[in-house]
Amino acid sequence: MKEFRVAVVGAGPAGFYAAEHLLYAESLIVHVDMFERLPTPWGLVRAGVAPDHPKIKSVSSQFVEIATHPRYRLFGNVEFGRDVSREDLLSRYDALVYCVGARSERSLGIPGEDLPGSLAASDFVGWYNGHPDMVSLAPDLSGTRAIVVGNGNVALDVARILLLPHDILRRTDIADHALASLATSNIRDVTILGRRGPVQAAFTTVELREIVTMEGLEIALDERQLVVPEFIDPAHARRAQRNLTVLQQALTAASASNCSRRLSFGFLRSPIAISGRGRVERIEVGINRLERDEGQVRSVDTGEREVLPTDLVIRAVGYRGEALPGVAFDERSGIIPNVGGAVAPDAREYVAGWIKRGPSGIIGTNRADAVETAERILGALATTHSSAPSGQSTLDWLGRQCPKMVDHASWLRIDRHETTLGQPANRPRVKLVTIGEMLAAARGPRL
Ligand code: NAP
Repeated sequence: MKEFRVAVVGAGPAGFYAAEHLLYAESLIVHVDMFERLPTPWGLVRAGVAPDHPKIKSVSSQFVEIATHPRYRLFGNVEFGRDVSREDLLSRYDALVYCVGARSERSLGIPGEDLPGSLAASDFVGWYNGHPDMVSLAPDLSGTRAIVVGNGNVALDVARILLLPHDILRRTDIADHALASLATSNIRDVTILGRRGPVQAAFTTVELREIVTMEGLEIALDERQLVVPEFIDPAHARRAQRNLTVLQQALTAASASNCSRRLSFGFLRSPIAISGRGRVERIEVGINRLERDEGQVRSVDTGEREVLPTDLVIRAVGYRGEALPGVAFDERSGIIPNVGGAVAPDAREYVAGWIKRGPSGIIGTNRADAVETAERILGALATTHSSAPSGQSTLDWLGRQCPKMVDHASWLRIDRHETTLGQPANRPRVKLVTIGEMLAAARGPRL
């Protein structure tokens, strides 16, 4: 059978699902080398999924299984564009698959967005999940009020983490610096703002129900905002109806007694400006009405304004892909342009996951997405012969190029180190949060 070598760039869910499909192909023998910027794999499953959602994180057991395949290798702590170039990889592999996700955030484009106290959710999420890039974020949680902009699941994650009791957080794998900071947080009042109405919100119902039924949390909501059934998008009608029901129930069940914290929903509100003397003190919002426009339900500014005092603004309006050095990129949509995962005909470059389709869907969505790409790769490889140098020669080259490369065995040492640290406190793991600590653990005693 013909044998090929494929490089997967990015060790998140899309990368693992693409690797799995290639490794288990029946028609060809494919070797997969996975390049990852961090010493740790699993992408957003490690650095994005909320720490109080261990069930969602348990998808990592699939990645652990895939990584046991004898033709799989991990090359962690190797950054594409810094340590290895597109040309390097094209000369050593029969195909490349970029699975780098969407690393930065969409911007609101309003005055005051960059004031201290205004944070991108992608940074805040990275901070509480121990992403090495965000260790020094140090959000100021000394005020009592926070506003989260956006009506997606990330907004719910962020609001929940701000409001969860310490007793729940301390049993998770939340980064220790975030656990300590949240333990002394004064935030008691969180408002989630959506530019459209409750039936247009992107929240999934399970996540919405989870937050509105949190113990000790008062839910505040203007019931007039819940009467908008004529604008339900048929494609999301079930979710919309369920979300509406959850919010209506929350309103009925609402009782402010014994509540130490409050969550408010402000629908039909767009941020206009963030302001304050040297830091965030308030946000001005424009009040919207909805309009149907070519099948879409759009928010339209009524011209009416409200000013909401706040100590913190977290902007959860979606992630955005970043360009990779030397690789085509569509600035407008924030993705690598592709057809079904192929970047360009005959280019031997492919994409999967958020950098292919944009930041949407749940983790499992990436499986079908990656399978589509992997099928295209297999189809193209089947018509050719490998010109890749041997796996050993690539390993030798990489050893010279990146002496601090973290291979799979080294990652297992980091993993073991973290889970061992977690045991005394009955936590799934205590995350190492700096590259230095990770590399020290990677060199640790052999398993
Ligand atoms: P998202 O689901 O796309 O939601 C983005 C939100 O931001 C939408 O409500 C959008 O409103 C709003 N928005 C965009 N631009 C805006 C602007 N200029 N002003 C005001 N609001 C604006 O994105 P996400 O929350 O970042 O989530 C990304 C993906 O990860 C989603 O597929 C999500 O389901 C998934 N995820 C899943 C989980 C989970 O399963 N537990 C957890 C976290 C994330 P419009 O609708 O009006 O555009």
